[in-house]
Amino acid sequence: MKNYKAYCFDLDGTVYRGKEGITSAISFIQRLQQIGIEPFYVTNNSSKTREQLQEALIAVGVNAPLEHIYSSALVTAKYIARNFPGQKVAMMGSDGIRKALLNEGIEPVEEEPEVFVMGIDRTLDYTALAKATIAIQKGATFIATNQDIKFPTEYGFLPGNGAFARLVGEVADVEPIYIGKPSPAMLEMIASQHGFTKEEMVMIGDNYDTDIMCGIRFGCDTIHVNTGVTPTSSVLEKEQQPTYVIEALI
Ligand SMILES: [Mg+2]
Repeated sequence: MKNYKAYCFDLDGTVYRGKEGITSAISFIQRLQQIGIEPFYVTNNSSKTREQLQEALIAVGVNAPLEHIYSSALVTAKYIARNFPGQKVAMMGSDGIRKALLNEGIEPVEEEPEVFVMGIDRTLDYTALAKATIAIQKGATFIATNQDIKFPTEYGFLPGNGAFARLVGEVADVEPIYIGKPSPAMLEMIASQHGFTKEEMVMIGDNYDTDIMCGIRFGCDTIHVNTGVTPTSSVLEKEQQPTYVIEALI
């Protein structure tokens, strides 16, 4: 395998499954750190803040500097600040997206939003879904942090933000703007903030439709690992192949 300067790891299904670490990936990360390469982490999970993601990594034995951790919440908030300045923003989701919006100077509103942003909320109820569909029917721009239908945990697959965003979009008859992978936004941000060229970067992930497509759209090399959402057998049937298809990182 070629040597890179920026190894960008997906988290769920690549570095850990729920609270369980994926040992092959963790020892690969530790070996990179021993030779002076500090990897990056690129997650569609919008529920956690950078600090909470850092804690989740420490819990499985990975020390990561905060500025190497990128989430769809962070990038979504920056996208809204840049493209909808001064507009009233309502949100559904947890700490991750709320803190990211506040960091951009956006205080979420309850009534008459011009933008509705949707991240995963694990305490989701019918009223919240109803409010979202109404706000979007009344014309609020519909933005979802990510389109993952499901994510792997130690118990099996659980519903992801994409499942709920699709539900709301179907009812309101509006297609959401999705910000997380496969959009190349997070990799673009790493390249510009840390000064890497595409040739120096590689995207590593378990999900073909998000991780691998993100790398392909961005234009860097990709590594698919068979430890999460997309089985290797389905990856091999795809027209656009990852640079490397492996069972696990060794
Ligand atoms: Mg994943």
